Amino acid sequence: MRSSLGPINLIMQLRKHGIHDMRVLRAMELTARDKFVDAAFLDQAYDDNALPIACGQTISQPYIVAFMTQQLGVERDDTVLEVGTGSGYQSAILSHLCKQLYSIERFRELQMAASATLNNLGIANVTTIIGDGWLGWPPNAPYDRIIVTAAAPELPAALLAQLKVGGRMVLPLGKTRETQLIVQIDKTDKGLEQEQLIPVRFVPLVKGRVKRR
Ligand code: SAH
Repeated sequence: MRSSLGPINLIMQLRKHGIHDMRVLRAMELTARDKFVDAAFLDQAYDDNALPIACGQTISQPYIVAFMTQQLGVERDDTVLEVGTGSGYQSAILSHLCKQLYSIERFRELQMAASATLNNLGIANVTTIIGDGWLGWPPNAPYDRIIVTAAAPELPAALLAQLKVGGRMVLPLGKTRETQLIVQIDKTDKGLEQEQLIPVRFVPLVKGRVKRR
């Protein structure tokens, strides 16, 4: 029989692997991942792996969610943009750390399911949107923080434009699955500061092609 980590073991595992921000660990603890995975994978909900969700997409690996969230350095009063809502798992974690989250997804089916899951959990500071996240979400810009949870082949100019000076964006960047890296970008009054962090494998950020039905 395969062993499942369970919620408490997962948190211990994250701490062992360098997730030290207590607010992030608490947000991970508050977020029941079993509410976001497909029924077929319930027994693996607390394993530290990505899992398939509808529309050929994935719910990210908990360690990578925790790592990117820690790196983002969200503050309580922040307005945050997430590109790639997927299951809504990352959105739920961010909801515990920021004032308001806007999360944009290109598949209507995923946006609707994520919105229902977040509502059922009583999470009220997340607005989900159907659209092309490559273009960001201008109506509520500029953002204190932007997180992208699909791999961009190059830096999305619209997202940089919608980031506040003093703000930070964290995203997987790379043209192929083999070359993706998590990159952190700080927008300062002197320009952009870029730091390459860890190798990852995300589904691609697809330009244009929004699936409204
Ligand atoms: N944060 C999610 C991860 C989902 S995988 C979670 O915790 O479950 C990445 C998601 O990005 C997919 O759902 C995919 O449909 C979406 N995506 C890809 N390109 C996009 C785009 N241009 N605009 C909005 N969403 C996009």
